[in-house]
Amino acid sequence: MFAEVSLPISSFQTFTYAVPENLRKDAIVSARVDVPFGNRKVSGIIVSLIHKSSFDGQLKSIIKIDPSTPILSKELWKLVKWISHYYVAPIGLAYNSVLPFSLLKDYSPRKSWFAKFNESANLSTLENLQKSSPKQFLVYNIIKKASPNCMRISTLKDITSNPISVCKALENKGFINLFKKSEEHVRDNIAFSPVKKKIIYNKEQIEVIDNIKSSLKLKKFSSNLLHGVTGSGKTEIFIESIKTAIEMGKSSIVLIPEISLTPQIAGRFKDVFGEGISLWHSQLTKAQRAKTWDSINTGESKIVIGARSAIFSPIKNLGLIIVDEEHDASYKQESPSPRYHARDVAIMRGKIESCLVLLSSATPSLETFYNYKVKKHNYLSLPKRYGFAVYPKVKVVDLIDESRETGKFNIIISGTLQQKIEERLNNNEQVLLIQNRRGYSPTVKCSDCGNIVMCAGCKTPLTFHKYDNNFKCHICGFIGNNEMDNCKECFSQNFLYLGTGTQKVENILKQTFPSARIARVDYDSTKKNDSLVKVLQSFLNGEIDILLGTQMISKGLDFPGITLVGIINADLGLHIPDFRATERTFQLIYQAAGRAGRGEKAGEVIIQTYDKKNTVIKAASKLDLEKYYENMLNDRIGLNYPPFSWVTKIEFIGKNSKSVFSLSNKIRSNFLGGYKGLEVLGPAPCFKEKVNNQYRFQIILKSLKKHDTNSNKLHSFISQNFIENRASLSGSNKIHIHIDPISMI
Ligand SMILES: [Zn+2]
Ligand SMILES: [Zn+2]
Repeated sequence: MFAEVSLPISSFQTFTYAVPENLRKDAIVSARVDVPFGNRKVSGIIVSLIHKSSFDGQLKSIIKIDPSTPILSKELWKLVKWISHYYVAPIGLAYNSVLPFSLLKDYSPRKSWFAKFNESANLSTLENLQKSSPKQFLVYNIIKKASPNCMRISTLKDITSNPISVCKALENKGFINLFKKSEEHVRDNIAFSPVKKKIIYNKEQIEVIDNIKSSLKLKKFSSNLLHGVTGSGKTEIFIESIKTAIEMGKSSIVLIPEISLTPQIAGRFKDVFGEGISLWHSQLTKAQRAKTWDSINTGESKIVIGARSAIFSPIKNLGLIIVDEEHDASYKQESPSPRYHARDVAIMRGKIESCLVLLSSATPSLETFYNYKVKKHNYLSLPKRYGFAVYPKVKVVDLIDESRETGKFNIIISGTLQQKIEERLNNNEQVLLIQNRRGYSPTVKCSDCGNIVMCAGCKTPLTFHKYDNNFKCHICGFIGNNEMDNCKECFSQNFLYLGTGTQKVENILKQTFPSARIARVDYDSTKKNDSLVKVLQSFLNGEIDILLGTQMISKGLDFPGITLVGIINADLGLHIPDFRATERTFQLIYQAAGRAGRGEKAGEVIIQTYDKKNTVIKAASKLDLEKYYENMLNDRIGLNYPPFSWVTKIEFIGKNSKSVFSLSNKIRSNFLGGYKGLEVLGPAPCFKEKVNNQYRFQIILKSLKKHDTNSNKLHSFISQNFIENRASLSGSNKIHIHIDPISMI
């Protein structure tokens, strides 16, 4: 007997091994095995069993089959195979995302290198160090600054590519001490305190609940779009649906985009279902992860809530899958392979397990909306806000007019917005402000020669961060602070800080409203694990007057105290060369507006723009969904973009731009004999054409969407051109295949 084994490596090849006599009883498809590979022992999975091997030579044997491994249910195995096929990912990698290999290893905390400043260092040679090795000098200063705390060396990666060797050199010179320590600190679980609410359902809600209940009872696959305006009480619909599933002896999976941003939803579930819920998210430690996985696998948990990978939970007897905020970009895994979309996987899993799938959003993606229009999804609608809350009034402020009238340029807080904020502060009401760009200034320019401060590795402007007084690359994570001493071209020390990030807005707010309590939430402010939950909690308690942040705070939050939402610059992101740029802008504005007036007091929204006539800004400011979908679908038909076509993006990445370009050209010429109805665009440099010293090119494949056969056609075309001769083609360059990409840049 022989087994075809797939390994969790990025190779599509499977490997044949002999199954020794004593292991035959455990040898089944999807079992986990240890096999010799080169001179290592690696874990893999059996993808098929055969009685004859075409291989003439001596085959190696499987070392061990782990009978204790939880074998995937046949439904999950089917899902793994679908993911591997649809997303063109090696089956070993697809399997690994469903049942991570790391879960099953005995877990011992990892040890990392740390550095500590040496108090008794001889500092007389410091001047020499600054001259002879500026890198070491920089690292020395950072470690000294952190003293008396020690510093994890890997955090210095942004400053030097090889922090450990720089630190070792510093240790040899006696400036610092290095040591290893284990890092298992059980993080506090994300705040998950029960949120109590008394609910009386309105007519629309009752209708939706009844509809879901009767579909659930059919125990058949169905996909449903729950389209509810912001504040319409969708969480309550989820709760009623899960209750019904439980009564039927069925379990549920609830996907939410980012659990730490939506503690209120988790809190509501906790209040209703108590301990029967498992949380699955990226901030679990390995030990917590293994334990949670186990309680799901044994059937102890009947409800799993989590981010995208929770769609793979080995939960038994599945009856219901809910995808909240189904339009959210975080459902798409960009890297590593498999590059899947959790919403689409949810639908496939629903089909395989014959259960009900509920996609929910106030701003459904165009794909989902279109699928409802062509009757692939049932449509459930909540057109009104819950309780007595009414929809906010929206006012658009034209920043061009305002400039003309006031003679001021670069207006960040317009007169209108300032006055509205003052009113709220006087009435002890709360304000939410959105500026979807972090840092202080996204572009810094030499005022003498015009040179722009750039990231050397990414060919992109560095963002100035005022609080840590340094430059950061938002693409590769580079951090530097000697960039600002003087201009690299003309040595001038005069810089212009152009553009507006959240830190600049925060500064202006502090000057304009000196007595207001202001908090900023963005990626930089929330690196500390619990600070976000703390900020949200104190905002809820009324201890903060103005909450300012990026798109992180534009969705999901339910704060009845907010009566004013301001969008500082609605045009950000509108002109990115991506066919989804307008869709994202609309969602951001509409969702943010939806945070206003959720309590008893009416809300108001101020949208600041330089582009008042833009159709997206117009539709968003009127909160006019119908117009928006009509416009957008028309645009997409015209340009033959999804949902009217199937798109695949193929990225080529490597250190040598010539070699990457010639590889992409070679692949392009393979495509010449494509097929009728296939459009091939490129190769062209990616929008981010250089990231981390790696050059990037892309080819776009577009295939008409008359019906699903075109999807199959596109898939077999990609398989034929890639799977068979991929390794021999690419050499040291990488090829990433993005099926149904959510971003073209
Ligand atoms: Zn200059
Ligand atoms: Zn960079």
